[in-house]
Amino acid sequence: MSASYPLYRGRFAPSPTGPLHFGSLVAAVGSFLDARARGGEWLLRMEDVDAPRCSMAAAEDILRTLESFGFTWDGAVVWQHQREAAYADALVQLQNNGQVFPCACTRRELADSLLAADGAAIYPGTCRLGMAEGKKTQAWRVSVSPASAGAAPIVFEDAIQGRIESDLSRDVGDFIVRRADGLFAYQLAVVVDDAAAGVTHVVRGADLLLSTARQIFLQHCLGLPVPLYAHLPVVVNAAGEKLAKQTLAAPLDSKRPVASLICALTLLGQQPPLELVDASRDELWAWAIRHWRLGNVPRQRTLPLAEQFVTP
Ligand code: GLU
Repeated sequence: MSASYPLYRGRFAPSPTGPLHFGSLVAAVGSFLDARARGGEWLLRMEDVDAPRCSMAAAEDILRTLESFGFTWDGAVVWQHQREAAYADALVQLQNNGQVFPCACTRRELADSLLAADGAAIYPGTCRLGMAEGKKTQAWRVSVSPASAGAAPIVFEDAIQGRIESDLSRDVGDFIVRRADGLFAYQLAVVVDDAAAGVTHVVRGADLLLSTARQIFLQHCLGLPVPLYAHLPVVVNAAGEKLAKQTLAAPLDSKRPVASLICALTLLGQQPPLELVDASRDELWAWAIRHWRLGNVPRQRTLPLAEQFVTP
């Protein structure tokens, strides 16, 4: 790491696939407070690498919502759609190191594979030693076979979830870094962007915990520093589903930031006093920064959104 890095540089990296909802607010609040309470910087990155799922209107809506909730970020917003050259350089580096291979497998051909915890096929290694004659490259995959450098089980200490261990060859298989449609994969983009920005601490939802081992593996392959990770419990609805556009989570109400922020702080175990209900948004933030304790965040992967926290 360069000596000019601050002691703490965090970030929030929403995907602009729809408006911010309460689940994303909880992640934003956790990462923002952890940075600010430690005198750190907090960066904002629009993760629009998956262009077909993202829109500029959603990105602008997210920026407006964050502003109305009183979030302030350091420096200019980074947009992944402008970072393609950096991802391409990283792919060339992986190609030169012999760590990636072209893959001709179609989704249908992988349909019989075992499934990873996130529902994706665990890649059976079909093209690792070369594609069958006459086949066309669909995607580029990074090799995590036990013989690959750095492919031993990835172990890291998460500041909230504790020790996490993942055997990528068993749990995930060789994973995609460049997709069949030519777009770079989220896993590669995040690693390249976090390193380019000098991010030291990644505080995000525990739904991304499964991705972290892949990202640490890529950091090893590319010779990049590994940030510290803290995965916050993810807010789930009564059916146990993560709040998301697909589960019809309501967009945040920008006119009532204090009520939603108090709910988020409470879920994060910060116990805001009752009188803060009448505080201004900025008074609430001042209290929250002064009193933030990462150690009080529930050490769980999910948090059911209790009835009393549903903002009317
Ligand atoms: N863009 C991802 C999301 O919205 C977050 C990625 C990250 O924080 O690393 O779920």
